[in-house]
Amino acid sequence: MAGLEKPSRWQDAPPLYGEQGVWHQYTYGIAGEKFFRSLMEGKLLAATCPECGRRYLPPQMYCADCFRRTEEWEEVKPPGVVQSFTILHRDLDDAPLAEPQVVAFISFPGTCGGIIHLLGEVPRDELCIGLLVEPVFADERKGRWQDIRYFRPARSSQ
Ligand SMILES: [Zn+2]
Repeated sequence: MAGLEKPSRWQDAPPLYGEQGVWHQYTYGIAGEKFFRSLMEGKLLAATCPECGRRYLPPQMYCADCFRRTEEWEEVKPPGVVQSFTILHRDLDDAPLAEPQVVAFISFPGTCGGIIHLLGEVPRDELCIGLLVEPVFADERKGRWQDIRYFRPARSSQ
């Protein structure tokens, strides 16, 4: 059916007009607190289910598949993989951005879930699904998403 194909390049994606308001409130919880404390150390932490071995990044306290409490925590090394992305031209107040921003959903091999975050240092002609990326951490970290400034193309694995 026309319009349902999944484009792999941003140039092929059809424009979507209209408003798409997304607001949420997030409470860290126990797993989230461990995750954000690890961000302060410049690490991405995953939780592993002792029953089925699923690894969750960001971590969850309970496995969504078998409902066991996750008990093992381990650092996940980059690169992550861009699974989807969008290019923003306006801010949350509908004001034009000085420079377009790219927001991506990034997953990490061997884990369930993923991170939605900014991409940076990506030439437009290299922006694609499947791009390998690594986090650029802020110099000053406070245990929040902004501890990662953005993800950039992975340098160590390309
Ligand atoms: Zn499980």
